[in-house]
Amino acid sequence: MASAPMHCYRHPKRETRVSCATCGRPICTECMNQTAVGIKCPEDARVPRGARAGAMKTNQIVKSLLAGVAVAVVGVAVAYAIFQIPAFRLIFAGLAGYLAGIFIHRAGGRNGGPLAMIVSGVSVALAFAPFVLPQVLAGSFQFFVVLPALVAIGFAVYQNR
Ligand SMILES: [Zn+2]
Ligand SMILES: [Zn+2]
Repeated sequence: MASAPMHCYRHPKRETRVSCATCGRPICTECMNQTAVGIKCPEDARVPRGARAGAMKTNQIVKSLLAGVAVAVVGVAVAYAIFQIPAFRLIFAGLAGYLAGIFIHRAGGRNGGPLAMIVSGVSVALAFAPFVLPQVLAGSFQFFVVLPALVAIGFAVYQNR
């Protein structure tokens, strides 16, 4: 947190140390709205989840992409572990995708939207690629190899809708 006082974007004469969780603009105590996901400005408190699709700011886009890279790298180990499990692979794959999706969603400032969905889908797909691609390229569509990957991708993308 910067220690320099900011000024409410709606009341430029009022000093504040609070800023909107969604857009980052400073807001005074009169303007702030306490929501389930933090303090928000009146505009963002009114906008329903998902309506701000594509409204990520540059630093949130960068964080989303970094989170995607992290998911792809760590995900390879997770995907490997999932393929060692003889049963209930789909449940573990779904859980892994769900957690990856939440991670990327938070990294992007909880905006979600098309870019976050693409980052989630691609990063989870990359995590599964070393195990799924050789099978697919060899022309053998193995149900219990391809399906867990699709389930994980689906859960990750869904979190960023
Ligand atoms: Zn705002
Ligand atoms: Zn204000």
